Amino acid sequence: MSVHIPFDNSFARLPGAFFTAQSPVAVAEPGLIAFNHPLAEELGIRAASDTEIAQVFAGNALPEGAEPIAQLYAGHQFGSYNPQLGDGRAVLLGEVIDTNGLRRDIQLKGSGPTPYSRRGDGRAWLGPVLREYVVSEAMHALGVPTTRALAAVQTGEPVYRESIYPGAVLTRVAASHIRVGSFQVFAHRGQIDELRQLTDYTIARHAPGADGPMGLLRHVVAAQARLIAHWMSLGFIHGVMNTDNCTISGETIDYGPCAFMDDYHPGRVFSSIDQTGRYAYGNQPRIAIWNMAQFATALIQQMPDPQAAADEATQIVHDMPHLIERAWLQRFGAKIGLAAPSFDDVPLIEDLLTRMAANQADFTNTFRALAEGTGRDQFTDPAAFDAWERTWRDRLATETAPEDLMMRTNPAVIARNHRMEQMIAAAVAGDFAPFERLMRVLATPFSISAEDADLTRPPMPSEVVAATFCG
Ligand code: AMP
Ligand code: MG
Ligand code: MG
Repeated sequence: MSVHIPFDNSFARLPGAFFTAQSPVAVAEPGLIAFNHPLAEELGIRAASDTEIAQVFAGNALPEGAEPIAQLYAGHQFGSYNPQLGDGRAVLLGEVIDTNGLRRDIQLKGSGPTPYSRRGDGRAWLGPVLREYVVSEAMHALGVPTTRALAAVQTGEPVYRESIYPGAVLTRVAASHIRVGSFQVFAHRGQIDELRQLTDYTIARHAPGADGPMGLLRHVVAAQARLIAHWMSLGFIHGVMNTDNCTISGETIDYGPCAFMDDYHPGRVFSSIDQTGRYAYGNQPRIAIWNMAQFATALIQQMPDPQAAADEATQIVHDMPHLIERAWLQRFGAKIGLAAPSFDDVPLIEDLLTRMAANQADFTNTFRALAEGTGRDQFTDPAAFDAWERTWRDRLATETAPEDLMMRTNPAVIARNHRMEQMIAAAVAGDFAPFERLMRVLATPFSISAEDADLTRPPMPSEVVAATFCG
């Protein structure tokens, strides 16, 4: 095989209860759409021709050392426990140790049915594959912990959804695919030995030095608190914060109906399946806490003194709101130019957000405009901005270089929904130029050239995307 991947697999060494051996199912006609060469280099992958890359990352040719498995997990979906999910359309090929010494998973998504597929076809179509490719790489460029996109390949096969679409396979790279749901499945079944084994494995992989299950909980709570504050600071709405989409590594995972907001509103929801707004923008902090409560509940089943463990776990989860508030303050403080914000600055930030919501102010462009002195142009009633600006300018007087801080904190360009929809429509019609362009521009989101300035524009009324889909 001419694509060389230096596999060093560890999850496949765990007992069989954790996964099922499952090869990707070959597709009709692999065609390479994109390959992330810098990421491949970081992973120590030696790639050959595009044809060979397409064969491997479509699942038609298994690279040497791969041990493909579908992982088992459960999860709360929209608050209801589903006792068995698992990789229904993905297989983990294996792990590599990257050039930084970090263990990374390499997973094909859309690679055919597995024992966990239930009624699904095990496939993905081009739209969601390109969406995940673009948004996950954009999140990485913004500095947000995230799974990465290594490859996108067309299958040459149709996928049946609301309509018939071209099929595709995404290759996803993650610090691991271990999630809250990976623990829940064993806790709920009372399989305490497996729960312990998974806990030990996860501590060694993600939280070396953590003191037992409660140490792991503390570590993950901190990572998730930082992650959610980071999402909030970018106007990012994940869309499906089910416990099976909540990683132990603290990386963003599962780019389904996710979206960046255009005009700011805390109640904003895009996902077509989120009828009640459970995963609305402003609910994300409390959902992250809810998810950590489920993680805690699963972990304590293995403790010798469950009552004492429950008390400790409760304390750890109850500390999370404070961790999120601190991380949120740091992020939003920087967004308005404050290098060392204090809790006294919270009303100033919240006042701006309230005024933005009342004035249909674009989230990304308003914060970016603060550094450029054009904030008021973003407000339907500019006087609403002027009133806030006076207090803000007074507060800025003691800052040394607030403009610099704002310019490297507030992106000029994000993956706007309407651009994603336009990109997907073009790709389905065989034109990948908009995809290539978005990838290029979103790789450096804190600067924008004049030729690409159209990508910073909010949607025109005719372009507004009302709902996003899981795919
Ligand atoms: P998600 O909402 O994307 O996290 O997916 C929830 C569960 O549904 C996971 O177990 C997925 O593997 C599974 N799933 C989603 N789409 C498909 C599909 N087309 N075929 C089989 N399983 C799927
Ligand atoms: Mg998922
Ligand atoms: Mg999904």
